[in-house]
Amino acid sequence: MKILDGRIARASLMKGLAARFAALAARGAPASLAIVQVGARPDSTAYVNAKKRFGTEAGAAVKHILLPEGVGEAELVAEIRALDADPAVGGVIVQLPLPDGLKSRQAAILAAVSPAKDVDAITGANELRPATARGVGELLDFYGIGLAGKKACVIGRSALVGAPTAELCRERGASVTVCHSKTADLAKETAAADVIIVAAGKPGLVGAAHVRPGQTVVDIGISREGDALVGDVDAAAAAPILGPDGALSPVPGGVGPMTVLALFENLADLCENNHHE
Ligand code: NAD
Repeated sequence: MKILDGRIARASLMKGLAARFAALAARGAPASLAIVQVGARPDSTAYVNAKKRFGTEAGAAVKHILLPEGVGEAELVAEIRALDADPAVGGVIVQLPLPDGLKSRQAAILAAVSPAKDVDAITGANELRPATARGVGELLDFYGIGLAGKKACVIGRSALVGAPTAELCRERGASVTVCHSKTADLAKETAAADVIIVAAGKPGLVGAAHVRPGQTVVDIGISREGDALVGDVDAAAAAPILGPDGALSPVPGGVGPMTVLALFENLADLCENNHHE
């Protein structure tokens, strides 16, 4: 079975990205990403730190704005707008999830990010693909796994992860089935697929009953079990069935690293576009 190793793929793609950031800096327009975090959820802080580390290594500045959990909507929106209007800031991210008190206002809050700075492609109003879907596409490219003429089964249909990943598969010429929490017989749908991509956030959802030899399985899920991060695939059960012609992305070290890379590729795209205008 082939391991779709996101750390190896990312290390290989890093050079090209770093060259883009170096070129922007040489033109007097260094790339800079602002991340607004509300409240100090440890998992969110870990994600922000991973973005900071990677961005700094690639040559983009990362500014982390940490606001208290109880911040009001108006104050938060004002902070986002100020960053969005700052010509020195190339991209703005609002780290999700927002605290419970602001969750129902999420759409209005995110709307404060303009399409030109929307590096997460969360407003759907720019040309970018959300980073997770872009990262999945680049992981498949790196390992030479094409989608044209294949059957893809995408589990999960969220606006930021599942739906854009299904769209990526469609654009690449796959026949796509989208499964979700109401799907009646998940194993039947996955068995029919050549490529299974799972983004449900349910550890062990895809196991021995869901896979067959030769399939490619991309595991987007990330859940915490004690101190460990686990995906949606029971890898110990699935790997022997996938066999020598199969492929599986591990968690951690599969899609996660690619998502961070893709986020900064989105930033490079925005900075290059904005600089040309
Ligand atoms: P979400 O909760 O918004 O969506 C989950 C989706 O899975 C829903 O469409 C739901 O219908 C479906 N689902 C849930 N239970 C199911 C079941 N039993 N059978 C079939 N479908 C089921 O979550 P999200 O934001 O889309 O994230 C999904 C997972 O991906 C999470 O674990 C998240 O942590 C992870 N994630 C990983 C990365 C990465 O870089 N690897 C990036 C973003 C999200």
